[in-house]
Amino acid sequence: MIKDFKGTVVCASKYFTDLEMRKLYQQGVFHYGENRVQDFLAKKTKLMDLNITWHFIGHLQTNKVKEMINEITYLHTLDRLNLADQIMKYANHKIKCFVQVNLTAEDQKSGILPENLDQFLLEIKKYDKIEIIGLMTIGKDLDMVATEKAFMMLDLLASKYQLPYRSMGMSDDYELAIKHHATHLRIGRKFKELMD
Ligand SMILES: *Cc1c(COP(=O)(O)O)cnc(C)c1O
Repeated sequence: MIKDFKGTVVCASKYFTDLEMRKLYQQGVFHYGENRVQDFLAKKTKLMDLNITWHFIGHLQTNKVKEMINEITYLHTLDRLNLADQIMKYANHKIKCFVQVNLTAEDQKSGILPENLDQFLLEIKKYDKIEIIGLMTIGKDLDMVATEKAFMMLDLLASKYQLPYRSMGMSDDYELAIKHHATHLRIGRKFKELMD
């Protein structure tokens, strides 16, 4: 049950308008994750009076870093060094980042492949505006077996590198994510019914 979950439930708010988010905030939802830069910036402006913690959870293009990086607290999708280079160039505070790992071997999916994670984590140490706090992954659509494997692997890798946080689990697979020690769920479509 999501109610017993002790970690952070990030509302993946792409399905919600700023007005719906304002309502959710009044009901006690303070963490929001957007996955498109333009929508994020528009909503942040409209909700400026609220003390929201903003996460960015979508694929991030390098040319968008400048306008958004200082507006977020958490980036869930650090997946390449040239993105880190842009963050170094434009961030004026340390950004808490999850490294996105592709654990379902889907070509179209972003994320560091597990065999490259060691090297990536080594190189990223030089980037002093990036604080790696954990790993993030996305399950495989309609494949609970592959999804559970991915969540299990993410848990093992986070432990191996002594990273405290694991961002995994969405509306249809959050139970598997909790089972494998997720600390941050990203729930969108079913947010309202699951939080009821
Ligand atoms: C939309 C989105 C979610 C939430 O997905 P739901 O299935 O709607 O819960 C989680 N993570 C990312 C990266 C998303 O883009």
